[in-house]
Amino acid sequence: MTDIAFIGLGIMGSPMAVHLANAGHAVAGYNRTPDKTGPLVEAGGRAADSVADAVKDADVVCVMVPDSPDVVDVLTGEDGVFAHAQPGALVIDFSSIRPDVTADLASQARDKGFRYLDAPVSGGEAGAKNAALSIMVGGEGDDFQAARPVFDAVGKTVVHVGPSGSGQTVKAANQLIVAANIQALAEAVVFLEAYGVDTKAALEVLGGGLAGSKVLDQKKENMLARSFEPGFRIELHHKDLGIVTAAAREAGVVIPLGSLVAQLMASAQAVGDGGLDHSGLLRGVERLSGRPSTSDKEN
Ligand code: NAP
Repeated sequence: MTDIAFIGLGIMGSPMAVHLANAGHAVAGYNRTPDKTGPLVEAGGRAADSVADAVKDADVVCVMVPDSPDVVDVLTGEDGVFAHAQPGALVIDFSSIRPDVTADLASQARDKGFRYLDAPVSGGEAGAKNAALSIMVGGEGDDFQAARPVFDAVGKTVVHVGPSGSGQTVKAANQLIVAANIQALAEAVVFLEAYGVDTKAALEVLGGGLAGSKVLDQKKENMLARSFEPGFRIELHHKDLGIVTAAAREAGVVIPLGSLVAQLMASAQAVGDGGLDHSGLLRGVERLSGRPSTSDKEN
């Protein structure tokens, strides 16, 4: 049994913390909005009333917050992890943030005597609820081995991909692939509907062939029902596509499809769809096609 602090009990963090408590670890969870600690407490965890309170006895500190400034704040702020955690604690950042910010935070952590892994995840809310996440881990090999019991409690495919920041780079690539897939699926749905075919039947047969994908499996119902409750919010995917386009530019790599889908995601954010699930990219295809009525009625 390990003493674990878990900071950020949102859509992803809450079920992950619950799995850790169910695996027998002593989990102290902190969330800015306190009522989100409910599921963790029901699973036998403890609701901490501050980051300092959560991390004070922790061997492992898990973080799952939205964006780079949030992780910087949680780790380096006056009331943050670096100021209050025990020497030698292993910090695991599950959030998806900028690789350069991660490399800087890892270096600060090492200077202060902490161990640090970046461990962004893929698999969506369903993957978090089913403990079936893919976890792409950057950092030292020994720290990766030490973190294995934590990863195995929340994930299914767990791979050490290289030094600090590498996990975030792999996650950026993941988000490029997922966004392009969702956009292609959304375009196919609007196209099929325009021809009046049975779209449910069409997606069933497409799912069994080379066009099949996890995106199609997990997002087809949202699109057919125009039900875009998140899941994974467009505003978060917009953040991730900003990371991948900036990192590609920095590396001198050209990602035309990534740039296009980043613009489409930016448009969805700009018209007020940022709080919807990223399958809501469908609404952008409908708008571009002059067929906005179906989902605009719902949302
Ligand atoms: P979320 O539901 O918005 O949860 C984020 C949590 O972080 C909330 O509990 C929030 O507290 C807390 N938080 C936000 N800003 C904070 C700050 N400055 N200081 C302290 N706490 C803060 O987001 P999520 O969907 O779980 O996503 C978390 C991370 O996982 C993101 O980096 C996202 O890109 C990544 N991710 C998400 C998915 C997905 O399907 N949702 C999949 C893979 C990866 P409040 O409750 O007070 O707002």
